[in-house]
Amino acid sequence: MDEKRMRAWAQVDLTALRANVRTLRAKAPTAAFMAVVKADAYGHGMIPCAKAAVEAGATWLGAATPEEALTLRAAGLKARTLCWLWTPGGPWQECVEADIDVTVSAMWALREATTAAQAAGRPARVQLKLDAGLGRNGAQPAQWPELVARARAAERDGLIRVTGVWAHFSCADEPGHPSIARELTVFTEALAQAEAAGLTPEVRHLANSPGTLTLPEAHFDLVRPGVAMYGISPVPEIGGPADFGLRPVMTVAGRLASVKRVPGGHGVSYGHKYVTPGETTLALVPLGYADGVPRHASGTGPVLVAGKWRTVAGRVAMDQFVVDLGADAAEPGDEAVLFGPGDQGEPTAEDWARACGTIAYEIVTRVGARVPRVYVGESPGPDPDPDPDPGDAAPCPTA
Ligand SMILES: *Cc1c(COP(=O)(O)O)cnc(C)c1O
Repeated sequence: MDEKRMRAWAQVDLTALRANVRTLRAKAPTAAFMAVVKADAYGHGMIPCAKAAVEAGATWLGAATPEEALTLRAAGLKARTLCWLWTPGGPWQECVEADIDVTVSAMWALREATTAAQAAGRPARVQLKLDAGLGRNGAQPAQWPELVARARAAERDGLIRVTGVWAHFSCADEPGHPSIARELTVFTEALAQAEAAGLTPEVRHLANSPGTLTLPEAHFDLVRPGVAMYGISPVPEIGGPADFGLRPVMTVAGRLASVKRVPGGHGVSYGHKYVTPGETTLALVPLGYADGVPRHASGTGPVLVAGKWRTVAGRVAMDQFVVDLGADAAEPGDEAVLFGPGDQGEPTAEDWARACGTIAYEIVTRVGARVPRVYVGESPGPDPDPDPDPGDAAPCPTA
């Protein structure tokens, strides 16, 4: 559909995404690159983003759930794919049959993986996850020796192949945080135990976006950036995207659905939390919390309308919110830009995060399914010669 006729849209710049992948790869030149595309690629659209990341040199894809990993396979993506958020009874066998690397953090999961391998008639590719200190998923260091020994036994029985050992940082976005060195040490010790037990993982990995950008000692064999690939700084206190050579990929905008003069003293939106200070022009932006605009943005969220930043006036409703244009003019159909790269004067996702007391991860990931994604910079399709830079190849002339 033509953007000119759309209520609202999220433009996703795949050229920027490919450039971000290359920038991140250059920061970790000796490590393989896993593009983390969970949660619909942080709201950007999983399949187009995964394809673009592969075009730019990602050799692994990272998903949280097995369903996400299976969706990547169903779309024809053949890159090595790891998923990590399992619950008992999950689709282990489907993943083994689809050549997906599965993560095991506990003995029950190892049992389900080996059972699935037997049913599938082929070994499961298993990556063992350690809780190096995050306190979320992963085996505790105390359980690690047993998990490693059982995994090695299953490997000897031909049921699994342990392809990786990994962990996840707790505070990599706070440079100098004492947990970083501690978790590196715990991880290194666990690696030594795994190797002593006879495991020979292809990839040992620990680094998310902040680790990729700021902790070269944490790169090991593979890095797993997510948010930075989408052009959002994982450490906004240290620098914005441009400081790391990154460019935001998503722009969210809509078209004004109403522009009208109202008298002073007019309440605006539910609860009348905003009252016009005098006669003014109100514009209606057709995006609300059902589209991912946080209700916490009521009275604080920034929007570019008619050349200036405006602030959400009153409450964000399910489908819409209002801005006060004062004496400025606008027309129904004019663009309201909530956030984008920032270089056309619009706010960024980081600005929205600050206005709403959250992180930019949440701002982009929550953009609702009702907002169509409009892709720009899509590659013309499979390139027969993936080197050096298929993503930017000129479109092939169509016959
Ligand atoms: C989400 C996630 C990542 C990516 O994190 P970013 O901070 O977005 O780079 C990496 N690894 C795991 C296990 C994750 O869950």
